[in-house]
Amino acid sequence: MNAPALDQPTLRDRIAEGAKLGRYVLRNVRLNGAVTRTGAIDAVGFFLADVTVEHGRISATTPARSRSSETSSGDAISIDGGGRVVLPAFVDCHTHLDKGHILPRTSATNGTFEGALAATRADRTANWSSRDVTMRMEFALRSALHYGTAAIRTHIDSQPPQDDISWPVFMELRQQWLGRIDLQASCLFPIDMARDDANLNQIARRVASAGGTLGAVAYPTPDIDHLLDRMFQAASKHGLDLDFHADETADPKADALRRIGEAKLRASFTGKVLVGHCCSLAMQEASAVDATLDKVATAGIAVVSLPTCNLYLQDRRKDGTTPRWRGVTLLHEMKQRGIRVALASDNTRDPFHSYGDLDMLDTFRLGTRILHLDHPTGDWIRAVTTTPAEIMGLDAKGSIAEGQPADFILFEGRNWSEVLSRAESNRIVIRDGAPLATSLPAYADLDALEGLSVD
Ligand SMILES: [Zn+2]
Repeated sequence: MNAPALDQPTLRDRIAEGAKLGRYVLRNVRLNGAVTRTGAIDAVGFFLADVTVEHGRISATTPARSRSSETSSGDAISIDGGGRVVLPAFVDCHTHLDKGHILPRTSATNGTFEGALAATRADRTANWSSRDVTMRMEFALRSALHYGTAAIRTHIDSQPPQDDISWPVFMELRQQWLGRIDLQASCLFPIDMARDDANLNQIARRVASAGGTLGAVAYPTPDIDHLLDRMFQAASKHGLDLDFHADETADPKADALRRIGEAKLRASFTGKVLVGHCCSLAMQEASAVDATLDKVATAGIAVVSLPTCNLYLQDRRKDGTTPRWRGVTLLHEMKQRGIRVALASDNTRDPFHSYGDLDMLDTFRLGTRILHLDHPTGDWIRAVTTTPAEIMGLDAKGSIAEGQPADFILFEGRNWSEVLSRAESNRIVIRDGAPLATSLPAYADLDALEGLSVD
């Protein structure tokens, strides 16, 4: 007779015990075929498996031998996972750690894109000292780690003189967080700034010396094609990948995504290109959509949708009426064409999005509802794990595979409905084979910063 399944705290303790001994088998867990690399199993969807962890690495994933409770197995501790879902640690490829958590200082914000730009610019000018950016970024990283994220790309507002402050902070934190969260950064500035040689070269040099990615906000200007060509030239010259914000608007005339595809083909650019948002695509005629998606597929560009932020900002109406569209881009159509698509967190508690805590389960849960990533859920989990890892060039992240570090998340749920219905606050995050013993940072930790205390 089967023993009752272990509760989460007991399970966590048992895994910690196994990690201390250097070897354990986590038996009877549900892996997902879309994010598991193994020679032993060829399956789509979930399958019951035993995962052997040795000295922080996954040494084997094999079909579950039986569904009975804990037994001893040779010299390894054997732990019954009770059929729970195990997914790889998350990869978040589009965030704004430098903007996060400034909301209390931007009370004039009104939930519109234009309002957010103005409020953020004012706060940046007044408050973004090295200490301010550091403390807010650390706060965000602690949350992300706690929820199970193992790699993050952040955009960094890089208009002078902010670049002199924020990039050194990023580099310091990347070093401090090595082994916990792999950090990447992309510069962010209005693409107008690329018109000036000195400006563009200065930022490209800074990004190159920091091992970052060249990024800009692309929006309709009369010389947009010329500016895009300059971005691709600068990226080629300095050996950089590219990461654009594009078409974050309901205006169907916004067509930067197609133009970025054309610019990449003109430049014969061989680096990686990621484009975020692309909201206006959903408002365009079918023929225009087809032309753009064909171009993006041919150019080999990846797209990241930011569903929570786009839902928040798009179609916000000044007359108090109810929003009528969801704000997200055409992710299904892109995926059907073979375009790499990801989901990411974007902004957290700033004028572009009043909420959020860098929990990629929350992003996937809301993304599933907003974008209908279900019936079937299929391999959409790749959009928050394997695909962003590929986009970021992190081969050892975003999947479960023999030989890789044992970085995964053990949920309470045993299928998608259970995993995506609750907050999963008791999820067990395993890093290098051992359960994390972190807690979320207290909001009060930010009270020491100018204007952030809540009275
Ligand atoms: Zn963004």
